[in-house]
Amino acid sequence: MPAELIDGAAVAKKIRGEVAVRCAALAARGIVPGLSVVLVGDDGGSAAYVRNKEKASIEVGMRGETIRMPATTTQDELLAVVDRLNADPAVHGILVQMPVPKQIDPQAVIRRIASSKDVDGFHPVNVGKVLIGERDGFAPCTPAGVHVLLQEYGVETAGKHVVIVGRSNIVGKPMMALLIQQGAGGDATVTVCHSRTPDLAWHTKRADIVIAAVGRPGTITGDMIRPGAVVIDVGTSRVADPTTKSGMRLLGDVDFATVSAVASKLTPVPGGVGPMTIAMLLRNTVRAAEQTA
Ligand code: NAP
Repeated sequence: MPAELIDGAAVAKKIRGEVAVRCAALAARGIVPGLSVVLVGDDGGSAAYVRNKEKASIEVGMRGETIRMPATTTQDELLAVVDRLNADPAVHGILVQMPVPKQIDPQAVIRRIASSKDVDGFHPVNVGKVLIGERDGFAPCTPAGVHVLLQEYGVETAGKHVVIVGRSNIVGKPMMALLIQQGAGGDATVTVCHSRTPDLAWHTKRADIVIAAVGRPGTITGDMIRPGAVVIDVGTSRVADPTTKSGMRLLGDVDFATVSAVASKLTPVPGGVGPMTIAMLLRNTVRAAEQTA
């Protein structure tokens, strides 16, 4: 029997609905959650992401704004904008879209954002809170979205072995931090693999849950998966495909045909993890606003 598909679009819609209710409750008290996204430069992919974030925030009843700055922006100019947003009580969430141009140190920008407005969850204070298990911090949106998908689909993590492939600060490491906490949605035994891991399949074959966040299509194939395992595909690679209207196609890290034949549950790409990221950003932002109320 082919794997059940985990419908991230449906779960994301449900979460956006819950966020809209919370925004309405805040509005009744005169508070409109504000999300400010800063885009430096004119990277096409980033511009599309930012447009989606602004649109999604407005749809749930937030004040969404995008601040566009030229590719020649200096670090000091960007930090001055962050300072202004930090001081503005109408702004509850701040996100600087990465990557930033090379003259700017991304860590300096992330550290400058007030941790109470860091709805991307990249500030060291929030990274630390997520690792410690303090729930008033903000978890990065993509791993938080995976965490919610597992819970929504009733995937037990307690006592299970999760293998995460990829150790980035935005996906792999925080994913590990969420899954090893005590309590609901946690209590997993976690292995984190990366490009220096010998014999990746040896690890993935022993996993109850595999989470792939690599950025290389076809990294995970059916023969690397234990029958009945749950597979979450975070990867999104744009590859040329002349058969589509846009000439491009989005591919995950998982070889869908072979893995869906052995896994019990699987996220598709697109429509799996992707839609959860913006939903979790909205959820972090409404919580940031609630925490100031
Ligand atoms: P990243 O920073 O490039 O990290 C990739 C990780 O994969 C690294 O830890 C790397 O190891 C590891 N890796 C590379 N080749 C490997 C191999 N052959 N075997 C095992 N591990 C390998 O990427 P990222 O930012 O975490 O993103 C990963 C993917 O998720 C990308 O496709 C990205 O587009 C996607 N993504 C999607 C969303 C979403 O909203 N759906 C959000 C974020 C990211 P080293 O550390 O040793 O280099």
